[in-house]
Amino acid sequence: MSDSFDVIVIGGGPAGYPAAIRAGQNKLSVACIDGWQNRDGSYAFGGTCLNAGCIPSKALLESSELFHRAGHEFKVHGINLQALQMDVAAMQKRKNGIVKGMTTGIAGLLKSSGVTALQGTGQLLPGNKVHYTAPDGSVRELSAKHIVLASGSVPMALKSVPLDGERVVDSWGALDFEAVPARLGVIGAGVIGLELGSVWARLGAQVTVLEASDSFLPMADKQLAKEALKQLTKHGLDVRLGAKVSGATVSAQGVSVSYTDAAGEQQMQFDKLVVAIGRKPYTDGLLAEGTGVNLDARGFIVVDDHCRTGVPGVYAVGDCVRGPMLAHKAKEEGVMVADLIAGLYGHTNYEVIPSVIYTAPEMAWVGKTEEQARAAGLNVKTGVFPFMASGRARAMEASTGFAKIVADAGSDQVLGVHIIGPMAGELIAEAVLALEYSASCEDLQRTIHAHPTLSEAVHEAALAADKRAIDMPNR
Ligand code: FAD
Ligand code: NAD
Repeated sequence: MSDSFDVIVIGGGPAGYPAAIRAGQNKLSVACIDGWQNRDGSYAFGGTCLNAGCIPSKALLESSELFHRAGHEFKVHGINLQALQMDVAAMQKRKNGIVKGMTTGIAGLLKSSGVTALQGTGQLLPGNKVHYTAPDGSVRELSAKHIVLASGSVPMALKSVPLDGERVVDSWGALDFEAVPARLGVIGAGVIGLELGSVWARLGAQVTVLEASDSFLPMADKQLAKEALKQLTKHGLDVRLGAKVSGATVSAQGVSVSYTDAAGEQQMQFDKLVVAIGRKPYTDGLLAEGTGVNLDARGFIVVDDHCRTGVPGVYAVGDCVRGPMLAHKAKEEGVMVADLIAGLYGHTNYEVIPSVIYTAPEMAWVGKTEEQARAAGLNVKTGVFPFMASGRARAMEASTGFAKIVADAGSDQVLGVHIIGPMAGELIAEAVLALEYSASCEDLQRTIHAHPTLSEAVHEAALAADKRAIDMPNR
């Protein structure tokens, strides 16, 4: 193997592996170094997303939703099941199989793109060099014209609630429970808390989510967040806002959590406790002295809009740089940088990054919330279409929630779309395209949507913004 490359990517998660593959497609010589280690010590490409994030969580969300629906919703379809049981070991085996298949697939993709895939750790040295340490401890100095840092993120810790890997775990631990805990506590009502809380609640756990903030999903459109809290509460999540955790004590009986809220000091007992209070950039050991790459106050690698660090030839992408910690944002940045390196056009539209929360009902949004649009001084109009009025949603017995369009009343341009309801994560793709192409409400109104489909809700919401909805009364 050569020690010199056009591009070296450090990190093989959703930011790093697409950067490496695209660089390979661009006919550059590429090495991708990834240090992800599973609990058994084995190495795997794919980073957090494939090994302990997006993919395993979605596998469990799917299994648990099917179980929940079978137990609570099938009856109305005339399907009677007796003695419904959940085999948690089988569910985990399926999830682990999906993860294994996907991570092995990434290694295959790297190979077929001509990427030299190296397991172990990489450290940036001054002068576009990388110190590579292989799993057997051997070291080599590699060099490249361009280096892409894609070292990702790790969970934030709560000093007063240390993890013990047994009773008190992080999100990775909560993906691997071998049995349904009778009482599950979750600290943090963010995306992870809601998704993983939902998994175990659907399987029968009594789930309490302790959220320090007084507001629920503050980044979401207020109307959507309000509906989400109502629906998730109905689905068994006991979300306690304004709950400031002060400590946890583990005993043979479980874990006792102390917190204060508006009513004063509180204490709760759980069998398992998940700490899900956010993630922080991971750059431990990544940068040797004198590289010139800077970190900001929160530990993110400082980059410009094109992910350039300011050091010639050194880029950084994904969770280790500013912006939402999302796999699709990471991927887009990785691809952008690989194209820029090859002298091609590369761009990431940070204004149009969709968010999806894979709970039931699902939530998804893109662009401005109504509150953000109003705060920006825009002349706002909105259109809301409830899934209750959607024939397809009714047929699916999934008619909670709505699609909401936020648009500029003057120019008619769509500013944001917010959906809570069935398949929201899929429906948002149309809205993302609409925002990417600066579509107007009229563009959406004049686009024919198949009937009966859930996507008609987006169409009708666009019509509702002009009080011209057909399938519901206009107010
Ligand atoms: P990572 O995926 O963290 O990958 C970084 C890689 O670099 C890792 O393999 C790491 O071991 C390696 N590395 C670090 N330092 C070095 C080094 N010095 N040398 C070699 N290798 C190194 N996002 C979504 O968009 N949708 C979801 O549904 C979703 N679900 C999630 C669920 C959970 C439970 C969690 C925890 C996260 C979820 N995310 C989701 C977030 C998503 O996982 C991240 O945004 C994404 O993984 C970021 O990609 P990345 O490549 O920047 O970092
Ligand atoms: P988050 O930032 O989404 O939520 C953390 C929550 O914890 C916040 O509501 C915060 O107010 C609360 N919190 C912080 N400190 C607390 C404390 N001491 N006590 C109680 N509550 C406290 O973070 P997360 O849920 O850990 O997720 C991490 C990242 O992973 C997110 O940036 C998210 O984008 C990404 N992720 C995305 C998806 C998805 O796209 N579907 C799924 C999972 C994770």
